[in-house]
Amino acid sequence: MNKVILITGGTRGIGAATAKLAAQQGYRICINYQSDEAAAQHTLQALRALGAEAIAVRADVSIEDEVVRLFRQVDEELGPLTALVNNAGTVGHKSRVDEMSEFRLLSIMKSNVVGPILCAKHAVLRMSTRHGGQGGSIVNVSSRAAVLGSPFEYVDYAASKGAIDTFTQGLAKEVAGEGIRVNGVRPGLIHTDFHALSGDPQRVSKMESGVPMGRGGQAEEVAEGIVWLLSDKASYATGTFIDLSGGR
Ligand code: NAP
Repeated sequence: MNKVILITGGTRGIGAATAKLAAQQGYRICINYQSDEAAAQHTLQALRALGAEAIAVRADVSIEDEVVRLFRQVDEELGPLTALVNNAGTVGHKSRVDEMSEFRLLSIMKSNVVGPILCAKHAVLRMSTRHGGQGGSIVNVSSRAAVLGSPFEYVDYAASKGAIDTFTQGLAKEVAGEGIRVNGVRPGLIHTDFHALSGDPQRVSKMESGVPMGRGGQAEEVAEGIVWLLSDKASYATGTFIDLSGGR
C-alpha cells in the first residue's frame, strides 16, 4: 500500500523532523502550516532533496472549511491518506490562570483541541473501513504538560494537552475495529522555536538541569517515536502513549 502522510504543523520543529524521517521511510508527504511560508518552502525543499514526493499546504487546522480544503488537496495530489500526525499546536505567554483572558483560552482550545479533533474526523472519514477506507494510523502530539500541569507558565496549554490525551483514548476505542490505530506522544522540553511563543526562547536551556537526563530533547528524538507508532511495527498498539521527556 502507498504510504501517504499528513503532518499538521509539519514545516518547523517536531513536525519538520517527523516529515524528514517519513521521507526516508518512503511516505508521500503533506506538510501543513499556518502562516510561515519561508519555513514551509525550506522544509519542502529538504523533503524533495531526500527523494520524497511532497506538498506544503497552508491551512488553519482550527477552521473546518480550511481542514476540508487541506484534506481534499491531499486526496487529489498524493492519493488516499494512510497516516495523520496531529502535531500543530500553540501556546500563550507565561501567565497565571487569574491573568488569562477569555480570548486567549478560546484560541488555545481552538488550535490545540478543536483542530486535532477536526483533522482526526476527516482522517477517519477516509481511513475507516466503515467508510470504505483501507485503515490507517493517527498519532496525536500531546505534551508532558498534560501530566505536570505547567503551573505559573500555561495551565491552559497543559489542559488542552490533557484533552488530547483523553481524546486519543476515546477515539482509539471508537475506531479500533475499523482498521485505525490512534496513539499519542508526550514530548518534554524539546529544543524548537515553540518556546519563543511563550515569551522565553531560552526556556529549554534554562530548565534542562531539572531534567533527570540533564538535557533538553531534540525534535528528531520525538520524531522517532511518532514514526514508530505510525508503522506496522506498532501493529498492536492503540490508545497508548510514549513519553519522550528524558525522565521529567
Ligand atoms: P513549532 O516549532 O512552534 O512549530 C509549530 C508548527 O505548527 C508550525 O509549523 C506552525 O505553522 C504550525 N501551526 C501552529 N498553529 C497552527 C494552526 N492553527 N494550523 C496549522 N498549523 C499550525 O512547535 P514544536 O515545538 O515543533 O511543537 C509541535 C507540537 O509539539 C505542538 O503540538 C506542541 O504543543 C508539542 N510539544 C512541543 C514541545 C516542545 O518543547 N517544543 C513539548 C511538548 C509538546 P507556522 O510555522 O506557519 O506558524
